[in-house]
Amino acid sequence: MHANGQTAFAGIIGSPVGHSLSPVFQNAAFEAVGLNWVYLAFDIAPGELQKSIAGLSACGCRGLNITMPYKRDILPLLDDLDETALRVDAANTIEFRNGKLIGHNTDGAGFIKSLRQDAAFDPEGSDALIIGAGGAARSISVALGQVGVRSLKILNRDTGKAERLVRLIGSYFPDCLVEVADSGGVDPAGFDLLVNATSVGMENNPGLPLMLEALTPAQVVYDIIYWPLETEFLRIAAEKGAQTINGLRMLLFQGAESFSIWTGLDAPVEHMGAALKER
Ligand code: NDP
Repeated sequence: MHANGQTAFAGIIGSPVGHSLSPVFQNAAFEAVGLNWVYLAFDIAPGELQKSIAGLSACGCRGLNITMPYKRDILPLLDDLDETALRVDAANTIEFRNGKLIGHNTDGAGFIKSLRQDAAFDPEGSDALIIGAGGAARSISVALGQVGVRSLKILNRDTGKAERLVRLIGSYFPDCLVEVADSGGVDPAGFDLLVNATSVGMENNPGLPLMLEALTPAQVVYDIIYWPLETEFLRIAAEKGAQTINGLRMLLFQGAESFSIWTGLDAPVEHMGAALKER
């Protein structure tokens, strides 16, 4: 694509953003559907968020993704939030609609889409274990509540944070059996779905979020980390017999959801995935 006088733009704001894979698949998406748009990464210094949003908005930005560390800081700058962003209390997508800034959160929807497509797993009525109680765990817990998971256990190093997440999910989804998991007493065999939503397993945070025993192919172990592509946790889970998925597909599908919010078009997921794979 060659930019010209009619080229529109969208982008991602965060800090740092140099490593972001979103420009790779969003630009591939624009090209695949023939949109004269370009997607850029903006590294925004702390304290410059408000000015940056106002500037991008004034320049006719068509859509934004928000990443670390601004997913919550962005909220007071938005005119409205969709129900998911409101529940998660964080936004990863901004839609510019008739001069208004609307916040969305597509992380959880991306996770659910990946589960359905990549593992052929329907979470409705299932028993899930979420390891972690940070932003990503919150998005995924809300998404699992929305699709009618039967039970949800939350395991986190800081149990106070796990308790707060349990109360939140319980208040939104009273039919879901939600409780804090006791770190000493988690039996992986008791879950249909096990999700690592911590940063344990990344290169700068090595280790295992949970010890695993024998698993079955009917059980899905999902690690939302996408670098490395196969964490130690996923490697062991596969060895123990479970179906495993890494976080690259969640990343792809959350981006596909954002694309549709901005453009009103179905996302060309195949093209986006191919661009990501090539990279
Ligand atoms: P947060 O900082 O909000 O949460 C981090 C979580 O990891 C907390 O639960 C924290 O526990 C836990 N944790 C960190 N270090 C340790 C440790 N050494 N031992 C035990 N627990 C630990 O981060 P996010 O929720 O935003 O992101 C978590 C991971 O998810 C990151 O790796 C990120 O890259 C990935 N991610 C992937 C996405 C995708 O699309 N695939 C989307 C979003 C995130 P505690 O509360 O006790 O500190």
